[in-house]
Amino acid sequence: MKECYVIKKFNRGKRSLLPVAPETLQGDMIKEAHSGVLTGGHFEETRTYNKLANQLYFRDIHKKIKQWVQTCDTCQRVKKTKVKYGKMTDNPKIAEQIMEELSTDVLGPLKIGGRDYVILFICSFSKYIYLKATQQVNSNTIVECLEDIMVHYPTPRRLKTE
Ligand SMILES: [Zn+2]
Repeated sequence: MKECYVIKKFNRGKRSLLPVAPETLQGDMIKEAHSGVLTGGHFEETRTYNKLANQLYFRDIHKKIKQWVQTCDTCQRVKKTKVKYGKMTDNPKIAEQIMEELSTDVLGPLKIGGRDYVILFICSFSKYIYLKATQQVNSNTIVECLEDIMVHYPTPRRLKTE
């Protein structure tokens, strides 16, 4: 591997020292910024560029990111299947604080190790996700999950189900 070194670069009016990524690592860096499990999200080229360009530099960084995003298999497939959304209601209820509104869903049956279902809750405001694997799904297991959530967080006001 080639040695990394730093250059001075004007970044939003400030001088920054950025490590220069060797060519062998550039693809991995772009991949991580664009579609990494923890920090990715398949965002478009500008957002991917902003994420990466604050942390490192290499020649043609913007062009290479653009090429990468334009050829990302996942992005191409998602763009081809655009979903038509219905009209928004005039007065949509928007969650304004954590745990105000939870969406819930059940995954399964999965047939894995005796716990066949996964109960899922997502906070509409914070996107906090609560998961619980159970053998069965009924009102008792749902109440158990809600009690578990309420030990740590404010009481949910609305519950949305599919
Ligand atoms: Zn993508």
